[in-house]
Amino acid sequence: MSVTAGVLAVQGDVSEHATAIERAGRANGEDVTVHKIRTAGIVPDCDLLLLPGGESTAISRLVHREGIAQEIIDHADAGKPLLATCAGLILVSRDSGDERVQTLDILDVTVERNAFGRQRDSFEAPLPVAGLEEPFPAVFIRAPAIDAVGEDVEVLATWDDRTVAVRADNIVATAFHPELLDDSRIHDLAFFHRTSV
Ligand code: GLN
Repeated sequence: MSVTAGVLAVQGDVSEHATAIERAGRANGEDVTVHKIRTAGIVPDCDLLLLPGGESTAISRLVHREGIAQEIIDHADAGKPLLATCAGLILVSRDSGDERVQTLDILDVTVERNAFGRQRDSFEAPLPVAGLEEPFPAVFIRAPAIDAVGEDVEVLATWDDRTVAVRADNIVATAFHPELLDDSRIHDLAFFHRTSV
């Protein structure tokens, strides 16, 4: 089988995401073609989308300026799978609590940017995730936390009493960075084994 994956590439950790989805596809017997998305017109060709971490203020400005924002919304509305990590989670949320980030409002959550404080800018945690048998080694980098979760949103993980991973239908979003490690289980949850937990 072959799938076309789009990695939003206006800013952020793009190549890590491209490598991670190729690896996850291979492990699931799928041949993945990756498109890096910097302009409008590519998202409609993608079966699945990845929205990387980076700086959500910059990413949101660029997706709107380049006309990519509506295409991502259409992808989500069509029920196609999407994985959003860190700044990507902020981008898809209903409200980022920061007027500089114009969110896409395709995931019914509100988020707090940089929620884990300066002392713990970056950290790794063995994170229990619903649907995974063993904890996931989650890397948090100036990570947001999820504050309010809509009715149709399933909480997959919490850390320090904060929600850090959720799923709603075709969208999985994490405050941490599953693309940085050689561990494809979050990609599997988002794209390849999409049964509800
Ligand atoms: N702190 C960043 C923001 O608020 C997100 C960090 C990340 O994506 N690693 O946009």
